[in-house]
Amino acid sequence: MTEWWEQPIEALDRDQWEALCDGCAKCCLHKLEDEDTGEVFYTKVRCQYLDESTCRCGDYSRRSILVPNCIHLEQGSVGDLDWLPSTCAYRLRAANQPLPEWHYLVSGSRETVHSAGASIRGRAISDEYVHPDGYDEHIVTWVE
Ligand code: SF4
Ligand code: SF4
Repeated sequence: MTEWWEQPIEALDRDQWEALCDGCAKCCLHKLEDEDTGEVFYTKVRCQYLDESTCRCGDYSRRSILVPNCIHLEQGSVGDLDWLPSTCAYRLRAANQPLPEWHYLVSGSRETVHSAGASIRGRAISDEYVHPDGYDEHIVTWVE
């Protein structure tokens, strides 16, 4: 039987689209881009509105007001966002790849993204405590 998340992303309704997120919160980390090469580097500096214990946005309905560059993933363009983490459920499904076994839709538990070490829980620092000029000191290699 085909599960709903195994369908092409264009076939998902709004609720299914929202439910596809694995809850890793890697997209709430600040990134730096090399101006010459365009290469993107993830830092461990996270948005201050993220609740790191749950890896959920602390104010999801107002996120666009609070953080103007907060990402909004759209079904038609998500496949072009090559800076998304390689594990991002949207990126995987846009490329017709299966969800990993730790994704809650597969495992049945919201905890497995954390126990598998696939989320940022316990590994980030709030942007309240880091000056933007110092983000480069916090580049990490655990987001690919
Ligand atoms: S990286 Fe993708 S799957 Fe992970 S929290 Fe962000 S949107 Fe959701
Ligand atoms: S406003 Fe919420 S969703 Fe947007 S980057 Fe911050 S924590 Fe993440």
